Amino acid sequence: MQVIAANLNESHESQEKSAKTKYIFVTGGVVSSLGKGLTSAAVGLLLESRGLKISLQKFDPYINLDPGTMSPYQHGEVYVTEDGAETDLDLGHYERFTQARITRDSNYTTGKIYNAVIQKERRGDYLGSTVQVVPHITDEIKASIERVASEDVDVVISEIGGTVGDIESLPFLEAIRQFALEKGRDRVMFIHLTLLPYLQASDEIKTKPTQHSVGRLREIGILPDILICRTEKEISDEIKKKIALFCNVPLEGVIEEKDVDFSIYEVPVVLRRQNLDTLILDRFRIQPQKSDLSRWEEILEILRSPEMETEITLVGKYVKLNDAYKSIYEALTHAGIFHRALVKVKKVQAEVIERDGAEALLQGAKAILVPGGFGIRGIEGKIQAIEYARANQVPFLGICLGMQCACVEFARHVLQLEGAHSTEFDRQTPQPVISLLEEQEKVTQMGGTMRLGAYPCQIKPGTLASQAYGRERVQERHRHRYEFNNFYRDPFAGAGMIFSGLSPDGSLVEIIELARHPWFLACQFHPEFKSKPVDPHPLFRDFVKASIEYSLKAKKEERVHGVR
Ligand code: GLN
Repeated sequence: MQVIAANLNESHESQEKSAKTKYIFVTGGVVSSLGKGLTSAAVGLLLESRGLKISLQKFDPYINLDPGTMSPYQHGEVYVTEDGAETDLDLGHYERFTQARITRDSNYTTGKIYNAVIQKERRGDYLGSTVQVVPHITDEIKASIERVASEDVDVVISEIGGTVGDIESLPFLEAIRQFALEKGRDRVMFIHLTLLPYLQASDEIKTKPTQHSVGRLREIGILPDILICRTEKEISDEIKKKIALFCNVPLEGVIEEKDVDFSIYEVPVVLRRQNLDTLILDRFRIQPQKSDLSRWEEILEILRSPEMETEITLVGKYVKLNDAYKSIYEALTHAGIFHRALVKVKKVQAEVIERDGAEALLQGAKAILVPGGFGIRGIEGKIQAIEYARANQVPFLGICLGMQCACVEFARHVLQLEGAHSTEFDRQTPQPVISLLEEQEKVTQMGGTMRLGAYPCQIKPGTLASQAYGRERVQERHRHRYEFNNFYRDPFAGAGMIFSGLSPDGSLVEIIELARHPWFLACQFHPEFKSKPVDPHPLFRDFVKASIEYSLKAKKEERVHGVR
């Protein structure tokens, strides 16, 4: 009895705590990959621009506890939060667009929800009852929504992954239906993202799939307040009226989200033009501040008409997938915004370098980036690309595996330690310059067992890193098992490697640079996760600057010596 009373008090308290908080649920219909994540982030930004504090969250209907063990082919990038959760890449959009606090509570999968319920069942928390999808799973989902609704949050935006009609997403939709009933419809809003396909043969935009998808939602008991319609072509008032009538949505709630021309950062502006923010505020009866999106508009202006152009060559394993290095591409764009430059990315498959040689693929490169990764495929190609950057004085940025490869390259070609490798790829290497720490040696489980999340890093004065950060202590996010082997610190330093970032106790190498090179820096962490269009990451900012300077110098030399 006492347990129940305590639980009741707790839930009563948490309800009281967030009594003012409003909730927006974003669902998707017709097809997947409609950009629900981007749209949710854009809604977040619009509400922040009206002075509100928001929280963003995503539910993923798959059974993995998190995407940490999934292949980039399945899932694209794994985004790492400050508190060390491996999450969906949509959370990257949330952080890039808004100030929302993104933590491990910002991403729940079906697996994570069931895991929590099963643990409670084993503890005996359900006091002998039969544990079921309704109410136990749906209760757990509702509790997860409440978890991001802290006292100071005005609006929680929760995105439901997947497509309406999927078997997997049903418990989530059922939970948000119940949630709306419990909180009251004046505190909950449903936004449904849908596709309006264009048929070239008849030159028509079709609304039927949208009608069906809203029909499915209504069967479940969810009546959308706003429909955001993804479309290739502009939609006429006629079509909007038709959608409003058939889908039972007010006309002003039918919002067009046409494919953007040049940047994803246009989305908030497109939605504001149709008063989406005002519509939400009116519905929630929130007294708004005047909208201020001026910083954002400045960014768009630079993206629309950059003053110059540069190109970064990325040497990786998943160059054909747009999503595998998502945050890196975004961070490069942010750095470009800072320099008013368009940053193009040339993607080179590491294995092709192994086949055709670095010279053939990298000649003319203005800057080379080797991103993070796992597994041996393409490793030698990455090492060759790094050798090319080092020997030819081409600006270089290595991230995580990119830093580890840079150390292997340095050991092999500068220190002449021919067999040098990371023990991830060659357990028997005579020169294990990258290896596991003792505590990692004992780990047998794959999921969630890496060095994850933010760790402090002490920056050495007088280095490229210190020039970039302008600070002695930074926090950066990690996702790796292997580390630089300290046995090699002295010989590396003696041959011109600078250890410009270390863990505060000096035991872990976090950033390396080369003394005899204009801009060569590699880090064990992932700086791309902390870059925003309004606040580019200092390392990306300076790397892109180095690429601009390098190409200006190359052009000058071309003029003096003629084309090489
Ligand atoms: N595979 C390497 C490690 O586990 C690097 C990981 C990464 O680049 N994120 O240490």
